[in-house]
Order: sequence, then structure tokens, then C-alpha cells
Amino acid sequence: MSVLADKPVTIRPIKNFIKSVLLTLPMLLLTLVLLTGGAGFPTDVLGLISFAINYLLVNSLFFMMIYTGRTDSYRAVLFVFFAVCFIIFFIGNLLEVRGSMLLSRENLFKGETPFCHMVIPMAIIPAVLTRTIIFPGSLLNGFAAVATMLIIWFGASLILGRGFCSWGCFYGGLEDGISRLRRKPSRLKIDLKWRYLPFAVLLFIVLTSAATLSPTYCAWLCPFKAVTEFEPLSSWPALIFTVVFFSLFLGLVIILPFLTRRRTQCGLFCPFGAFQSLTNKICSSEVRIDPGRCINCGRCIEVCPTFSMDRDSLAKGKTTITCCKCGKCIDHCPRKAIYYHTKGTPLHHKTRLLFLYPAFLFLATFSGGIIQKAIHRVLLLVTTGSMLIG
Ligand code: SF4
Ligand code: SF4
Repeated sequence: MSVLADKPVTIRPIKNFIKSVLLTLPMLLLTLVLLTGGAGFPTDVLGLISFAINYLLVNSLFFMMIYTGRTDSYRAVLFVFFAVCFIIFFIGNLLEVRGSMLLSRENLFKGETPFCHMVIPMAIIPAVLTRTIIFPGSLLNGFAAVATMLIIWFGASLILGRGFCSWGCFYGGLEDGISRLRRKPSRLKIDLKWRYLPFAVLLFIVLTSAATLSPTYCAWLCPFKAVTEFEPLSSWPALIFTVVFFSLFLGLVIILPFLTRRRTQCGLFCPFGAFQSLTNKICSSEVRIDPGRCINCGRCIEVCPTFSMDRDSLAKGKTTITCCKCGKCIDHCPRKAIYYHTKGTPLHHKTRLLFLYPAFLFLATFSGGIIQKAIHRVLLLVTTGSMLIG
């Protein structure tokens, strides 16, 4: 008898592999079209290598999502990589256009800074009252136009709702990555009721922006200034705000995520996250729990990075409004009781792929240009000693 004949025939893994390859084919095609953007392949060698690395990474991760049935683990790889690449890309652009990372308060108020989605909620009332967009007013080279970004944001909100915070936000990936560095959370416990604090921050910055006709979150509170742009430290207010930005960054993006394994900036502070939570009402997908399968083990409550799951959610079969559809609870549930659901379809119909295709395509496309440019800059740095293009 041959050795092969003794081995059990493993048809299921092979079938699963073939099915996963077939389901990845449309993604291979779509990402090829969207990442080349109709402009064709990069013509220089480093550009081509950057494109190839990004294209292979994106499609390998999507294949693994289908093959393993796990969502969050592979989403997080791309999401975290995107955030790191964004910083490299952004700083590179500032250095090329301005020669430094310094941006004055005057630059900010005149709208001479790149577009940032964080400003959308605070720009609405001033736009209605004064018919001007308080920020951004004009844009630097290499960044998307305001109208384009608003259309992208609206489309993403319809498909993802607050899922934007796990499948699109180039800041969220930083703390998502840091929250995974520690194997077990410390004993520090944060009460779930604090998840509503970002709504208070949202109200505060909307009202103060309307009163001052300036983007108060960007000027006073944004933790990500610490890794993007700096105000020249030439006055006391500039110094004070820089201390505030760094303190918020260290506390909410580094220390607390590391200790608690939660995304504390997103879950407890970010006003855009709160604003985006409201779009969960109009978006086509949601995360549901099947109370019939659930054994109340509490694992999903423990792992949710944005404090969006509680005992009440388990009883009602749905997550709270702050859910960012990351899929972590789905991956960790021992009873497979949690699932992506498309609104309008019967409950318990697990429509994972209907969510996964557009969500992943959005992340791959939105991050694509930035990741490629960041890889390009790193390759340039390695080969020429400078990461600046041109
Ligand atoms: S992890 Fe699954 S089984 Fe455990 S409480 Fe959550 S939904 Fe129920
Ligand atoms: S409830 Fe689940 S999908 Fe929603 S944010 Fe929490 S872990 Fe992610």
C-alpha cells in the first residue's frame, strides 16, 4: 500500500482553497483597475515595485479573510500599515511643499493645510451661516480636492457608517496597532458609559467652531498633530497647545490603548467618530448577535475596541450605535453568534461578503495611493539617502 493511500483525503480544505481563490479573483481585478486609476502602471522602477508590494499585500490579505473566515486580524494588518504609511506620506509631502513640518495658526485659518475628514462636522454650521468653508479653503499639491473627499466620505458613510473608523480613517490604525501589542489587558477598567463622551466633545467643537468661525478641534485638541504638523513654538499659546496635542496623543493613542487593549482615542474622545456613529443609522450594514446561539460568555464585550458591546446588546441582538464594524467580536465569539447583516434582509442571514467586498475595496483603494507613495519614499530613502521626490 502506498504512503499516500494511508493519508486521509482532505477535500474540505482544498474546496475551501479553490472557493477562496475564486472569490478573490474579482478583488484582484477591481484593485488592479482602481489602484492604477486609469493612468496605467508607474513607469519608474521604484514606483512599479511600490505598486507591486501594495497590490500583492492587499490581495493576499483579502484571500486570507475569505480562506480563514476571520475578518479583523487581516483588516487590522492593512489598517495599521495604512496609518504608518500615512505619516510617512504626509510628512514627506509637507517637507516637499513647505520645506518643514511647521504649519502656523494663520496657515490653518486660511485653509492652507491639507484636507482632513475630522473637520467635516465643525465646518457645517459656519458653511451654512457664512457660505464659506472654514477649513480647508485651499489645498496643497498631491492631496485630494475638497469636493472629491466629501463625495468619498458620503459614499463610505452609506456603505460603512461608522465602519469608516475601522476601514478608512488613517488615524485609527495607529491606536489599533498599539492596542494589539500587549497580550493581556492591565487591570485598568474603563466604564462602558464613557463611550458617550465623544458625543459631548462633538457638541463642544461644533458649537465653538460656529461661535468662532474657526476649526477649534484642529486648533485646540487634535492629538494627531503630534505626528503630522507643528505650529512654530514662537508664542505661549502655541506652546500650550503643543503640550495639549502631545499629552492627548501620548495618553489616548499610546498609553491607554497599550494598557487596555482598546482604541481609547476613537472610543472615548474622537468627535468625528461620534459624528460617524450617527451615520450608522443610514448605512446599509450592521453587526448583529443571534441571542439563540449566544451563551453570554462576555468575550465580545471584553474584546470590543470601541466599547460598543454590552449585556444589553446581547439581549437585544445588536451592537450600540458606536460600533465601527471592525469584526473583532465576530472573530472571537466561540459560538459564531455574531455576524455582519445587511439591513432589509431577513435576520440571521449572514451576508458577510456583501459587507466585506465594498468595505475591503474601500480600504484598499483609499489607502492604496498613500501606501504606494510611502513605500516609494522609503525605497528612495534607502537607495538615495533622501525620501523626497523630485
Ligand atoms: S462572544 Fe458570542 S457567545 Fe460570548 S457573549 Fe458574545 S455573542 Fe455571546
Ligand atoms: S461591536 Fe464588534 S464589530 Fe462593533 S466595534 Fe465592537 S468588536 Fe468591532
